[in-house]
Amino acid sequence: MEPKKLYLKTFGCQMNVYDSERIAHLLAAKNYHLVDDPAEADLIFLNTCSVRQKPEQKVYSALGRFRAIKKKNPRLLIGIGGCLAQQEGEGFLERFPQVDFVLGTKGIKRLPEVLAELETSGKRIAAVSLKGRVDPYASIPFYFSSAKVSAFVSIMQGCDNFCSFCIVPYVRGREVSRPKGEIIKEIQNLVAQGVKEVTLLGQNVNSYGKTTPGEVDFVGLLAAVQEIPGLERIRFTTSHPQDLSLPLIEAFGTLPKLCEHIHLPLQSGSNRILRQMNRGYSREEYLQKIETLRHHCPEISITTDMIVGFPGEDEEDFQASMEMITRGQFDEMFSFKYSDRPGTRATVLPNKIPEEIGRQRLGELQNLQKKITLKRNKAREGKEFEVLVEGRSKACPEENMGRTRTNHVVNFPGKIYSPGSMVKVKIQKALAHSLRGELVE
Ligand code: SAM
Ligand code: SF4
Repeated sequence: MEPKKLYLKTFGCQMNVYDSERIAHLLAAKNYHLVDDPAEADLIFLNTCSVRQKPEQKVYSALGRFRAIKKKNPRLLIGIGGCLAQQEGEGFLERFPQVDFVLGTKGIKRLPEVLAELETSGKRIAAVSLKGRVDPYASIPFYFSSAKVSAFVSIMQGCDNFCSFCIVPYVRGREVSRPKGEIIKEIQNLVAQGVKEVTLLGQNVNSYGKTTPGEVDFVGLLAAVQEIPGLERIRFTTSHPQDLSLPLIEAFGTLPKLCEHIHLPLQSGSNRILRQMNRGYSREEYLQKIETLRHHCPEISITTDMIVGFPGEDEEDFQASMEMITRGQFDEMFSFKYSDRPGTRATVLPNKIPEEIGRQRLGELQNLQKKITLKRNKAREGKEFEVLVEGRSKACPEENMGRTRTNHVVNFPGKIYSPGSMVKVKIQKALAHSLRGELVE
């Protein structure tokens, strides 16, 4: 089989990074190898995101650039996958003549079949059915990760929560948990390839197993992963505050491999807006949960997501979000300006917030969090942390880069360690997004 070149571009979240690794693996079996330059490619595949307007716009502008490449090389195939592909379906083929095929979020494993069909029929294809509780990964053989030290492992797909702003349930389908045995086998295989740390992925990991009779719950899954020899660290994302149970909180104190970090999206500090968002918890309940987390695991690092400018958010609601950021004392915050997503309930809510106000609120919230992050990082100065080395520092390649169990990036000079080494580092200086340290002998 003649070798072919694949340019694979990933937009959006960790789920898409995971899916892209699967895609690269599937296509490697069909003799495709990855290239960095789209102009060289035989196949361009965009794994897209439609959670917010911004990543969606990036896909459209990339397609504009690829149209010019296709004009020069008419044999080039262009395919679209991921959430935006699911959202737009056949519409993609109508709007973008340069696109040859569209693959929905449950269609990953069909990719080789779709390529073969394109070759024989020459007809453009849209394969976007969300029907059936199909595990898109089930028949993809062993995972091969390009990350040598840390890898993502999907434990469930879809979401049943229907937060009013969110498109995920519409483009990823209903919640389906993967069987425990399959997850364990995948992690064992990763560990055999040198992976030391896994991040278990799902939109709402706390409800793992709920819709799959006979499977363990999330805490049961964590306990099983804990037993895998050679694996050193376990992380997970994302946890929904509504379903964060006491047994899961307690697991931070009892499972030695479970790292002291939780991403717990708050979204808004106003109870009125939280109700409108259909989040299922109040600010008081949220505060109670993080207090319990810190009680059971005082060193835990807590990060969050916030949305500003949700329809109807007035100054008082926004100030409630500012106040919750102060009270929450988060280690990091990912914040977004609300954008309408097609088909979601929030799109029909009245009192949309003008762009300018949204931008202003986002800036204010981010400035507040920046100070808190730096203050919390500074409190780590002089302390020693276990660091898993991931490679060289990006800014300074003659230094090591690694991560603490609390998910803080640490750069440190001295002897260069191979990725996967576990070392002890004393923090000397806290920066806005990372820590600098020195090796402790
Ligand atoms: N499942 C996670 C949870 O429940 O928090 C969140 C997953 S979502 C893919 C990632 C983040 O995108 C959300 O936490 C939210 O802050 C943000 N987001 C989702 N929809 C949005 C929208 N319409 N406008 C702005 N931000 C949005
Ligand atoms: Fe979207 Fe809410 Fe599901 Fe998270 S829990 S993926 S925000 S619907």
